[in-house]
Amino acid sequence: MLRVEEIHKSFDDFKAVNGANLTVEKGGLVAVIGPNGSGKTTLFNLITGQLKPDQGKVVFKDEDISKLPPYKICSRGIARSFQIANIFPRLTVFRNVQVSVLSQQGKSRKLFYPAGKLAVEETNSILESVGLSDKAGNTAGSLAHGDQRALEIAIALGNEPELLILDEPTAGMSPEETTATMELIKRLADSRGLTILFCEHDMEVVFNVAQSIMVMHQGLTVIQDKPDEVKNSSRVQECYLGGAEPC
Ligand code: ADP
Ligand code: MG
Repeated sequence: MLRVEEIHKSFDDFKAVNGANLTVEKGGLVAVIGPNGSGKTTLFNLITGQLKPDQGKVVFKDEDISKLPPYKICSRGIARSFQIANIFPRLTVFRNVQVSVLSQQGKSRKLFYPAGKLAVEETNSILESVGLSDKAGNTAGSLAHGDQRALEIAIALGNEPELLILDEPTAGMSPEETTATMELIKRLADSRGLTILFCEHDMEVVFNVAQSIMVMHQGLTVIQDKPDEVKNSSRVQECYLGGAEPC
């Protein structure tokens, strides 16, 4: 579904992404892991068009999307969440998701009409799938951190993506919230048939969930393989233990 080929991005002289490769199969659950600063967020920004690559390309469903603006990439079927949650804090949970569903349906102007009888079923179904049904009437800003991240995922689902990209979905979470979020991600992949690509700085949390793991180090791909292969890779272990040479 997605292929990132030998992609590069520098900020002035600093090579943030320096020859990364990534493959995501349809229906797959793929994790990108790597230490802080290894280039994960930059890679996601290159995939979703927030940044343009200096070299290399991003191919989504056989189309080179590397030169498209973000809104066109979104309309091709890629939605994402950001490392820092992006919600409307003063709107209700329901309304946050409804806005997203309506904008996907091209009906966002109708928001100025008296009330949200539009897209109620779709919105409720999304809230149900992320476990927020019972908080639909709460204001988004009053939710606990873990629920805000779940809401952000719900907003992304409103775009009816085929590929959902999540940047550190468990950032700042308690261990319980992290487990719940990882279970949610797995459930979404299973029940909605979504293809999910997410990144994490914590190696441990991804190993039970991901089918394929890509390890980034200093802007490049060290390995992409099944979890067991990655776990046993001496190159990966040396990256994490600080040995610079093998990477
Ligand atoms: P990660 O998400 O893996 O923690 P990032 O992709 O955010 O890593 O960052 C990779 C490197 O690129 C970091 O050293 C970061 O400081 C640098 N970087 C990221 N974005 C910019 C930018 N807009 N300008 C300059 N440097 C940046
Ligand atoms: Mg990041």
